[in-house]
Amino acid sequence: MVKSSVLGYPRIGADREWKKAIEAFWSGKLDEEALHSQLQQIRLNHLRKQKEKGIDLIPVNDFSYYDHILDTAAMFGIIPQRFAYEGGAVPLSVYYGMARGTKDAAASEMTKWFNTNYHYIVPELGGTAPVLTENKPLTAYREAKQHLGIEGKPVIVGPLTFLKLSKGYDKSETDAWLDRLLPLYVQVLQELAAEGVQWVQIDEPIIVTKLSDDDIQRLNTIYSKFASAVPNLNIMLQTYFESVERYSDIVSLPVQGIGLDFVHGLSGNLKSLQAQGFPADKILGAGVIDGRGIWKASLREKLPLLDELAEIVSTDRLIVQSSCSLLHVPVTTERETKLSSVLKNALAFAEEKLDEIVLLTKAMASGSAEVETELERSEHAVQALQQSEERNRREVQEAVASISVQQPNRSRPFTERYAAQQAKWQLPLFPTTTIGSFPQSAEVRKARQLWRKGEWSNEQYSEFIHEQIDIWIRHQEEIGLDVLVHGEFERTDMVEFFGEKLAGFAFTQNGWVQSYGSRCVKPPVIFGDVAFTGDLTVEETKYAQSKTNRPVKGMLTGPITIMNWSFVREDIPREQIAYQLAYALRQEVEALEKAGIGMIQVDEPAVREGLPLKEEEQDGYLAWAVKAFRVATCTVQETTQIHTHMCYCEFHDMIDSIEAMDADVISIETSRSHGELIHSFEANTYRLGIGLGVYDIHSPRVPSVEEMTGMIERALRVLDPKLFWINPDCGLKTRGLEETIASLRNMVEATKNAREKHTAAV
Ligand code: GLN
Ligand code: ZN
Repeated sequence: MVKSSVLGYPRIGADREWKKAIEAFWSGKLDEEALHSQLQQIRLNHLRKQKEKGIDLIPVNDFSYYDHILDTAAMFGIIPQRFAYEGGAVPLSVYYGMARGTKDAAASEMTKWFNTNYHYIVPELGGTAPVLTENKPLTAYREAKQHLGIEGKPVIVGPLTFLKLSKGYDKSETDAWLDRLLPLYVQVLQELAAEGVQWVQIDEPIIVTKLSDDDIQRLNTIYSKFASAVPNLNIMLQTYFESVERYSDIVSLPVQGIGLDFVHGLSGNLKSLQAQGFPADKILGAGVIDGRGIWKASLREKLPLLDELAEIVSTDRLIVQSSCSLLHVPVTTERETKLSSVLKNALAFAEEKLDEIVLLTKAMASGSAEVETELERSEHAVQALQQSEERNRREVQEAVASISVQQPNRSRPFTERYAAQQAKWQLPLFPTTTIGSFPQSAEVRKARQLWRKGEWSNEQYSEFIHEQIDIWIRHQEEIGLDVLVHGEFERTDMVEFFGEKLAGFAFTQNGWVQSYGSRCVKPPVIFGDVAFTGDLTVEETKYAQSKTNRPVKGMLTGPITIMNWSFVREDIPREQIAYQLAYALRQEVEALEKAGIGMIQVDEPAVREGLPLKEEEQDGYLAWAVKAFRVATCTVQETTQIHTHMCYCEFHDMIDSIEAMDADVISIETSRSHGELIHSFEANTYRLGIGLGVYDIHSPRVPSVEEMTGMIERALRVLDPKLFWINPDCGLKTRGLEETIASLRNMVEATKNAREKHTAAV
C-alpha cells in the first residue's frame, strides 16, 4: 500500500498563536512555564490535525521555538562564547540571545534558507567541541506517542547540510568538524532506535546544489556510519527545492529511503529516475505536492506521474509526500472569507495539502466512487480558475507577447542621455538624494488605520498625506538635498500598495508564513493576468512636485521585486508574470512622465532573491529580470532620468546584470558590507550613474561627517566622480524624525566638503 507523509508542518498556527506566545514571552507577559505549555498545545494541535487527516508518517521535531537550524546548533551545544553558556540544557535566554542578541552579545547572523523567503540563524562553529545537550528529536517522538499515540517520524537536519550552512571555521577543517559531530548524531539516532522509532527523516537539501567529490565522499562516510550504528532504523534521506545533482551517487548511499522533489526538481529527478532506475532495496519518497506554492494541484495530472514512479519502484515502495516542508505555505484557506469562491477553491494551504496527499494515496490504491468524486471536484476547482476572466485578459496577453520579442531599449545610449540630463537638470557635482521613504511615525500608521477602518474618509486621509508631504518637502529643502522624494507615507509596504491598485492581485486575510523567528509575512497573491487600471502614484508625486522647485523623484517598486515578494500563479512561467508586471508599471512610468515628473525610481531590492539554485539557470533568470526592468522603464524621453535601488550587499557577482538594467542612476547599499561592494567595482568600471549608500539606515545612530567623508572618498577611488551620487543605504521608513534629519544634515555637509575638494579635478 502506498503511504502518505509530509516533511514538516507550519509552526505559526492558524491564528499566528505561535508568534503571539513567543512575543508575549519576550515582552515578559508570559512566563517560561506558560510559554512551554502554550507551545506544546500548538504543537500537539498540528500533530492531531495531520493524524485526523490520515497522514501515515507524521513528522515530529519539525516544530521549533524559533528556527530549526538554531535548534540543531543548540542541540549540539554549538553556542558562541559571547553568550556565556555554561553547559547543560541550553536556557531560553541563551537560545533567544543567539537569535536576537542580548545587551552584551550580538545576535548570530541570519540568512536565507536556500531560495525560499525563510531565514535561518547561521551556526557559528569554532570555540569548544560540540556536545549533545538534549536529544530533541527523541523528546518530540515521545511526546507525540504519549499524548496522541502517534508513531512520529523525527526530522533532523543532516550533518552535511548543517556543516555547509555553518560558518566560523575554515573549509579545510570540514572533515575535522564532521568527526566531532558524527558521534553526536550517532548517539541521537541510537537513542531513537532504542525507543523503537521506525523512520527518521534526515534533511540534506544541500544535495541539490553542486557537490564536489569530497562532499560525496563525506556523504558516504556519514551514511555508512549511520548504517552500521543503527542498522534497524530506517533513514529517509530527504532532498528538496531542486533535483539531485549526483543522482547515482546519492541513490547508492546505504539508507532505506530517498526523498526527491517532483515539483521543483521534476524534470531533472524524473530524467535521472527514468535513465538510471531506482535501487530495488529502497523506498522512494515522492514529493509530488508542492510544499512552497499555494495552489491546488491538478491531481489528475499527478496520478500519471505517480503511476510512472510506481512502475519504476513498485507501489509498495512509494511514499506520497509534500515536495518540502509545509513551513513555506500558510496554514489553512478555511478562514478566508473575502476571496472569490473561484479563487478560494483553487487554493491549497498546508491543511488542504494534507487532503491532497491523502487523496492521492487513496487514488493509487483504488478507484472508488468516493475518490473519483473528490478528484473530480478538485479538478473542477483548478479548471474554474484557469478559465476565469482574470486569467484570460487578451489585451495584456497580446501586449506581453509583443514585448517578449522586442528589444526594450531607451531611445539613446547612456552617454547621450547623460549629456541631455545634465543640461536639463543642472545638478551639482555629487547630487544628494534619499531612497524614498521617510519616517513612518505612529501618527502616520494611526491615520492609515483609521482610513482602512472607514473612520476617515478618502478626503481626510488624502489631506493628511498631503500635510506629511508638505512637512517633508520643507525638511528636505532645509537640509539642502538636491533631488527630493514625497516620502511614501501612503504605503505600508513596497508590494501591497501596488498590488492593491493593479488587477490580477488578491489579498488573503490570514495567509501568513514565517519569514524569520516570530516575524511572519502575508504575501499578496498574483492569481490573474496583471493589468494597469489607473494611476498608482501620480497624485502624491505630482502634489509633492507642486510644492518645490527642486526635482521630485517618482517612486515605484519594480516588476521582479513585486513578483518575488508575492505568491504567484503557476500556470504561466515566472518570466511572463514579470513582463505583465513590467508592462503595467511602464504605463505608470509614462503617466508620471506625462504629469511632469522627470526622475523616476524603480526599486528592485529583491532581484537576487529569485536567483535559481542551479547555477546553469542563473544567467537565464538574470537576463529576463533585466529585461523586465527595461520593459518598465525604456519608453521615457532621454531627459527623463531613471533611477533604481537595491539593498542587500551580495551584488558583486551580479554587477554586469545591474549595469545591463541601463538605469541612469542606481543607489546601492554599501555601508554594512564595509566596502566589499566598492571593491567589486575595481575590476569592473561601472559606466552609469551610481550612488553608494554612505550610511547604514538600520541603526538609530547618527553617523558623523567624518565617517561619511571616509565612505565617499573610498568610493571615489574606484568610481567616476561625474557619475557619483550621495545617499543613505535604504529607505528611512523605520527611523525616527530627529536622527533622520541629523544624519541627512551630516550627509549634506560631507557632500559639500567633497565638492570643494573634488570640483577642480573633475
Ligand atoms: N523606496 C523604498 C523605501 O525607501 C525602498 C525600500 C527598499 O529598498 N527595501 O522605503
Ligand atoms: Zn533598500
